Amino acid sequence: MQVYNYEFFDSSEDLEQKYSILTILKKGLIMSVPFYNFQELHNQELLSEVKERYNEILETNAFIEGKYNTLFEQEFAEKQQAKYCRMVANGTDALEISLKAYGVDHGDKVGLPNISFYASAEAIVNIGAEIVFIDVDPATGLMCPESLKRILKNHKLKAIMPVHIYGLNAPIETLEKICSEQNIKIVEDAAQAQGGFYENGKPVGSSNNLITYSFYPTKNLGGFGDAGGILGQCDELDTKIKLIRNHGRAPEGHIMVGRNSRCDSFQAAVLHLKLKKIDQHNKQRKEIAGKYFEGLSGLKDIQLVPERFVKTSSWHLFPIQLENDETRRKLSAALKDKNIGNTLFYEKALSEEKPIHHYEGEKAKAIEFSQKVLCLPMNPFINDQEIKTVCSTIAANFS
Ligand SMILES: *Cc1c(COP(=O)(O)O)cnc(C)c1O
Repeated sequence: MQVYNYEFFDSSEDLEQKYSILTILKKGLIMSVPFYNFQELHNQELLSEVKERYNEILETNAFIEGKYNTLFEQEFAEKQQAKYCRMVANGTDALEISLKAYGVDHGDKVGLPNISFYASAEAIVNIGAEIVFIDVDPATGLMCPESLKRILKNHKLKAIMPVHIYGLNAPIETLEKICSEQNIKIVEDAAQAQGGFYENGKPVGSSNNLITYSFYPTKNLGGFGDAGGILGQCDELDTKIKLIRNHGRAPEGHIMVGRNSRCDSFQAAVLHLKLKKIDQHNKQRKEIAGKYFEGLSGLKDIQLVPERFVKTSSWHLFPIQLENDETRRKLSAALKDKNIGNTLFYEKALSEEKPIHHYEGEKAKAIEFSQKVLCLPMNPFINDQEIKTVCSTIAANFS
C-alpha cells in the first residue's frame, strides 16, 4: 500500500508490472523522495483525533451534513474571505453545481484553459454545455487573457472556468475585466489552490466569482475520501447552490430538480481538523518551493515558473519544463531510478483527450506545454537533504 500512496495517480506505466512483487523489491519499498507523504501528514496525533470524532458521529447518527459540516463551512469561508462555503460531494460536482447556479445550460459555451485535470472538462460536458478551449500562458499553463480576447471575437461565451493549476494563481483580475464587458460568469477551479493567494495578495476565494474546491485526499487540504466545496459572495447564488445539492428541497417542498451532492459528516470532521494545519503546511510548501528555486534556477536545461509565484501559489505541485518530450522522459526516468517521485501532470492537453477532442478553440501552446512539463516531489515534509538530492540528480542528468 505504501508504494501505491507514493505513486498515486501515475498512470504512465503498466500497473501490473508496476505493482509486481519483483518490481517493488527492485525499487525498494520506500521512495527516497516521496511525491506525496501520507505517513507524515496523517500522523498518530491526527488519526486519534479523527477516531474520536468518528466515534462521536457514530454515536449521534448524524452521518450527513452534521455539526462539523457547519463548522468547516464557517471557518473555511472566513479564512478565504468569502461570504459562505457550501460543502458538496466532490470537486467535479462543485464545478457542475456552480455552472448550474449561474444558469449555464444546454448548448451554452464555456471557456476552459486547455491545461487542467480532466474533471474540469467533464463538469461542462455533463451539463450539456460546450467547451471552448482557451490557450495557456506557456510559462505556467494558466488561462491566457490574450487568447480569451481572441476567442471572444468568434464565440459567445456564457462563462469561463479559469483553473489555478498546480496552485499557481490564474490572472483573475485581468480575466474579470475582459468578462465584465459581456457579463460572462467566472467559475474558478481552485481544486489545487487551497490556501493560495491572488496577485493582489488576497486569498483565493475572496473574489466575486464562484470558487470551487476538491478535497480529494491528495490535495493540499484533503479528506479521508471524496468531498468538495464552493465559495461565494452572492446570496442569490447561495440559495441555488443549496437547492441543487439537496434535491431541490426548500422548507415548502421540492421547488426545482436538483440532485444529491451532499457531503458526509466523516469528511467534514477530518477536513475541519486538517484546516487548522493548512497554513503551516502551505508555509512549508512555500519554503520548499523557494529552495527548489535556489537549487535549480542556474540550470539552463529546465524552465521554472516565474519566481513571483513563490509568494502566491499554494504549491500543490512543483512543475518544471524541459526542452521537449524526449528530454522530459529522460529526466523522469533518471529521477525514478533514484527513487525520486515525479509525475507528468498533465501529459496531454485536454483537447488531446479523445472524448473531448472535437471541441473548438485555441490549443497549440497547451499542447506544447503538456509535452514539456514534469512535476517534482512536493509535500510539506521534504527536508533539505531531499531537496539537494532532487536538485543534484537533475543537474547530473544534464552534465
Ligand atoms: C482534483 C481536481 C478536480 C476534481 O476533483 P474531484 O474531487 O476528484 O471530483 C477538478 N479540477 C482540478 C484542477 C483538480 O485538480
